[in-house]
Amino acid sequence: EEERLDANTQASKHMLERAEKHLAGGVASSYQLRDPWPIYIERGDGQYIYDVDGNEYFDFHNGFGAMVQGHNNPAIGAAVAKRFPLGTHFGAATEDGIVVAELLAERWGLPKWRFTNSGSESTMDAIRIARAYTGRDTVMKIFGSYHGHHDTVMVSIGVPYDEIGDREHYASLPYGGGIPQATVEMTIPVPFNDAGAMERRIIELDAQGRKPSCVILEPAMMNLGVVLPEPGYLEAVREITNKYGIVLIFDEVKTGLTIAAGGATEYFGVKPDLVTMAKSLGGGLPTGAIGGSDEVMRVVEDHTVYQVGTYSGNPLSMAAARANLEKVLTPQAYQHLDYLNERLLTGSEAIIAEYNLPGYAVGIGSKGCVTFSPSKIVDYESYKATQDVALTELAWLFNMNRKIFMTPGREEEWTLSVVHDDKAVDAYLECFTEFAHTITR
Ligand code: PMP
Repeated sequence: EEERLDANTQASKHMLERAEKHLAGGVASSYQLRDPWPIYIERGDGQYIYDVDGNEYFDFHNGFGAMVQGHNNPAIGAAVAKRFPLGTHFGAATEDGIVVAELLAERWGLPKWRFTNSGSESTMDAIRIARAYTGRDTVMKIFGSYHGHHDTVMVSIGVPYDEIGDREHYASLPYGGGIPQATVEMTIPVPFNDAGAMERRIIELDAQGRKPSCVILEPAMMNLGVVLPEPGYLEAVREITNKYGIVLIFDEVKTGLTIAAGGATEYFGVKPDLVTMAKSLGGGLPTGAIGGSDEVMRVVEDHTVYQVGTYSGNPLSMAAARANLEKVLTPQAYQHLDYLNERLLTGSEAIIAEYNLPGYAVGIGSKGCVTFSPSKIVDYESYKATQDVALTELAWLFNMNRKIFMTPGREEEWTLSVVHDDKAVDAYLECFTEFAHTITR
């Protein structure tokens, strides 16, 4: 399979040779890397993506989950085309931004919003808001959870397999160089799906005078494939954070607008104090948002916290986000996503059962994956201990060679778009059947 993919992507190979002369590593972001070379893309249209070799793929990667509206969406294209001749950047607010805040407030039931340009900016600012609101520095996160690339949250992720047994050690392990140990020490990870462990750690920290300012978590983890919250877990986290006066931040950079019109907050029926968004909000233009309660967001309104950015609320991004919310990611759109995902998940489950594969299909809204593991993954440790890495990587190659474009690496899920159709589902299931047949032959 490796040779076949290599043979099909020779133009990408040549592009890397040129790219790496002046683009460090040949890519714009380290997450775009792949061995032996990245796949360079020429264009996307609807549910399809085309690489520089001219290969046409069904796009299940969808720009790390940002393109739930599909590529080249006409409603978003029209809004951007209308905005461009009127000016694209002023460093002042526009009406579209007000409408986007109104629509998000309605969907999330949180009254106050601000805009950023990425998920990392959203989580960075939300944590600052929580620290200012509580007057405390410590941040509690989940082992293995990704919240962007700023120092405070680049902790206890990307842990090498052989170090995973030593929780004490990797609790304060920075993800890569250049991250000050002093910052890392302020971030305290706890396991997902274990409210008891969270409360015990809060009590310990409180006794040391280090009570957390906030708990930041993804309501459903989406960087270990998909790991859903166990029934009652999010409710318990809400109860604990209320009890100890800790700000609860739902990081909905991935779940927001991909699993329901009002994200995980609506889907699971648990309301955080702050929510962070990005990815699918901008309809393919870079934008992010932070939403919150009147009480917590007051520290922004009274200028205690500088929540700022030259491009925040950029008119082009806001025009795209408004069209996205008003015309594309409507409540009805989620019925279509649910229908397609249900077909993918039940179809995959049937193949897993028929061929007796060590794995299961899991998903929610537009997101899902086949997790190759003999037992259910509930947190980072069970993920590291039981995920079948070889099968996961082989499945990716199989998909790519049969024109199903998926995120390289072992940690991502598929994201469907509102313009995906039954053909995409059929192609995936056909490919998965061939995969199952081949590996069990
Ligand atoms: N939070 C979560 C849950 C994410 O998945 C990501 C990106 N994968 C981020 C934050 C960071 O977003 P960005 O890459 O836009 O900075």
